Amino acid sequence: MERLQLTITYEDKLKERNITALTTFEKQALISVFVQQLQNQNRLCCDKDENDLAVTEVDRFGFVKEVSCNRCQSIMQTPFLYTYKEKLRQKHLTSILNVKHMPNVLSAVVQQLRNQSINNRLCCDNDENDLVVTDVDWLGFVTEVTCQKCEQTTQTRFLGTYKHKLEQESIAFNDKDMPNVLSAVVQQLRNQCTNKRLCCDNDENDLVVTDVDSDGFVTEVKCDKCQHNMQTPFLHTYQQRLKQQDITLDYKDLPNSLSVIVQQLRNQSTNNRLCCDNDQNNLAVTDVDSDGLVTAFTCQICKQTTQMHFLRTYKEKLRLKEITKLDKMDLPNVLSSTVLLLRRHSITGTTCDKPRCCSNNVNDLTVEHVDSFGFVTEVKCSQCNEPWKPYATTQNGHTKESSMNLTLDQEITSAGTDGTAYGTML
Ligand SMILES: [Zn+2]
Ligand SMILES: [Zn+2]
Ligand SMILES: [Zn+2]
Ligand SMILES: [Zn+2]
Ligand SMILES: [Zn+2]
Repeated sequence: MERLQLTITYEDKLKERNITALTTFEKQALISVFVQQLQNQNRLCCDKDENDLAVTEVDRFGFVKEVSCNRCQSIMQTPFLYTYKEKLRQKHLTSILNVKHMPNVLSAVVQQLRNQSINNRLCCDNDENDLVVTDVDWLGFVTEVTCQKCEQTTQTRFLGTYKHKLEQESIAFNDKDMPNVLSAVVQQLRNQCTNKRLCCDNDENDLVVTDVDSDGFVTEVKCDKCQHNMQTPFLHTYQQRLKQQDITLDYKDLPNSLSVIVQQLRNQSTNNRLCCDNDQNNLAVTDVDSDGLVTAFTCQICKQTTQMHFLRTYKEKLRLKEITKLDKMDLPNVLSSTVLLLRRHSITGTTCDKPRCCSNNVNDLTVEHVDSFGFVTEVKCSQCNEPWKPYATTQNGHTKESSMNLTLDQEITSAGTDGTAYGTML
């Protein structure tokens, strides 16, 4: 008999307070919402069995305020949920039907607060149960929470505008993913900007979601202060491509993956530029590999498509050798050091050492071999189709494989900042 004790003790408390207007459906909803909130907060008590719980307090509307566990005698309240309900009531926004959604809204708000903070912490004690809702918007979404311990107040308006946009377009979207999409958009907006600022006041809560695509992904935001509209097409086309290829990556990680591509492009270019107008806002992802690494993109201005051969073949070789100690952000640095070494070892100073070819275009290179540390030991030039292993040969022309790592190490030390990635690899 599920929830028998909860139901019986709840009925007793309602009788004590002379509350008779609630229907069976409403009563069930009010018990469910309380249990759901405890579950979301991982606080369902000693043996995680809701049948051990008994209702010990209700408010004058029949809302559950407190339960106790019959096994360990713990008493549990949910001030976050309760203050949310109270705010809705004050603003005449309560309806028993949306009560069931309240714990999900609060979970999304908690995730949003974590994403908004620099260290992923909620507040002083990092305890969700210290939080109370101090404001909601006209549609009942939480816009402000306060920590009861340190009295710090935080806004979550941006999240609310996303929710409303989704509702307005009738798009079903997982509440828990919403903060992570916003986090990706905010990060991408920062990455797109040279000084990493968002907008005039650099405050994410000035932003309003103004457009989403048919999957519910944010495509445009506006700053409420200066009315500036901002888009993230590089991120959006990346997300679309991943979806087309059925690849699931954490939304929050997408801007980092794009940073790898941007870094690689800057390293590949002779003047540190991305493409004709040097703005990642004009790039659109056109292909990804099975791990979601961007392998091709198009520039919207000059319509040129670039294939990320060098990076893609490097990553493939690392995978074949099962080398996992390299962070994806390290890959462009390793390749940049490799290019430096190639040019030093080539008589002509170009990335290809074949006199008839002399290609100096990094994007002509593919990685043919890596060693067990992840060093690139052989590349091939796609212009002349010739492989070369520049580090396996000493100045006398004798093969000296055993000293290769040492040679590399010395080269890298003298290579300066580009070489620092090797230090973390070894
Ligand atoms: Zn217990
Ligand atoms: Zn606090
Ligand atoms: Zn602004
Ligand atoms: Zn271009
Ligand atoms: Zn060549």
